[in-house]
Amino acid sequence: MAATIPKEQWAQVIEQTGGPVHYKKIPVAQPGPDEVLVNIKYSGVCHTDLHAMKGDWPLPTKIPLVGGHEGAGIVVARGELVKDVEIGDHVGIKWLNGSCLSCSFCQQSDESLCPTPLLSGYTVDGSFQQYAIGKAAHVARIPKECSLEAVSPILCAGLTVYKALKESGARPGQQVAIVGAGGGLGSLAIQYAKAMGLHAIAIDGGEEKGKMCKELGAGTYIDFSTSKNLVQEVKAATPDGFGPHAVLLLAVSEGPFQQASEYVRSRGTIVCVGLPANAFLKAPVFDTVVRMINIKGSYVGNRQDTAEAIDFFRRGLIKAPYKVVGLSQLQEVFDLMEAGKIAGRYVVDTSK
Ligand code: NAD
Ligand code: ZN
Repeated sequence: MAATIPKEQWAQVIEQTGGPVHYKKIPVAQPGPDEVLVNIKYSGVCHTDLHAMKGDWPLPTKIPLVGGHEGAGIVVARGELVKDVEIGDHVGIKWLNGSCLSCSFCQQSDESLCPTPLLSGYTVDGSFQQYAIGKAAHVARIPKECSLEAVSPILCAGLTVYKALKESGARPGQQVAIVGAGGGLGSLAIQYAKAMGLHAIAIDGGEEKGKMCKELGAGTYIDFSTSKNLVQEVKAATPDGFGPHAVLLLAVSEGPFQQASEYVRSRGTIVCVGLPANAFLKAPVFDTVVRMINIKGSYVGNRQDTAEAIDFFRRGLIKAPYKVVGLSQLQEVFDLMEAGKIAGRYVVDTSK
C-alpha cells in the first residue's frame, strides 16, 4: 500500500436503524485480494440512503453502517488478484458493490439479480467516508476527463434511469411521463430521455421543481400538488391525447403507483423504479388486459449499462443540477430530502 493512506478517516456512520448519522473518525479498511481501496472525493446522496437509515425496506442493513453508493474517487490500493484497475484510476463505488459472478443471473449480465449481492451503503460500507472498498470487477470505470463531483450522481441515479428508459421500450420520438421528475433520479431522467430522442412529460410538486424540469428539457410540467385532474392533464400533454408510451415511476409515495395505469397509453409500459416504504402496486385487471398495459420493475443496471450511462455523461449530453456540501452536513441533506425540498441532487465533498 502507498504510504499516503491514513489509518483513520472521516465518515458518516449510522449506529442504529432510524438514524441519525454520526460524523466521526473510523479506521480505513484494507482491500481483500479481489478488491480496490478508493479515496472517495465526492458522493451523491440518493433517497435510497435515507430509506436505508430509516429501515424502510424488508431487507435489513448492516449496523453500524456507512451509507452511500454514488461515490466517485481515485484508486489508492488494490488486492493481489486485481489486474485491470490501476492505482490512480478514477472509479465509482455504485450500489452493486459486488456479485458472485457465477450464478445464472450473473452469467447473463443480470448481476443486479444475483441472489448474493454486496450492496454499497447497505450490506457493506459505502461512500459516505473518505476511503471505501469496492470489488474490482464492479467498480465503475470513470474517464479522467469527467469531473468527479458532477459524475457522482450518474453512478446510481443516472444509471438507474438510463436502464429504466431502455427497459420501457420507448423509441425516439415517443412520449415518456417521468413521475418524481424534480428529484435526483427524475432530473437525470429528463436529460437521458432528451438525449435518447424522447419527449418528457415531467410530474412533481412545486414551482421550483417545475422551473428546473422545463430548463432540463421537459415539454410539459404537471404539478401533482395543485392539479385538478392529473390523469387528464398527462393525456392532454401527448399529441393524440392517448397518453404516454412509457411511464417511469420514480416517486417516493405510493399514490402514483396506483394511478399510472389510468393515463399510460394502450400497449404502453409502466416502469416501477421508486421504492416507497410498504407500498403496493394496483391496476384494474380489465384495463390492463384490454389495453395491453405492461407493468414492470427496473433495478439499477449492469456493468455495461453503467459504462453506457457514464459515456452519455462524458459526451456532454447529461447536465443536471446538483449542490455540493461537506460530508459533515449529510444529516441536513437527509432532512431536506425527507421534506421533499431537494430539486435535483446533493453531492457531498468528503474533505469537508
Ligand atoms: P428524491 O427524493 O430526490 O426524488 C423523489 C421525488 O418524488 C421528489 O422530487 C418528490 O417531490 C417526488 N414525489 C413525491 N410524491 C410524488 C407524487 N405523488 N407525484 C410525483 N412526484 C412525487 O429521490 P431519488 O433519489 O430520486 O429516489 C427516488 C426513488 O427511487 C427512491 O425510492 C429510491 O430509493 C429509488 N431508487 C430506486 C432504484 C432502482 O434501482 N430501482 C435506484 C435508485 C433509487
Ligand atoms: Zn441510489
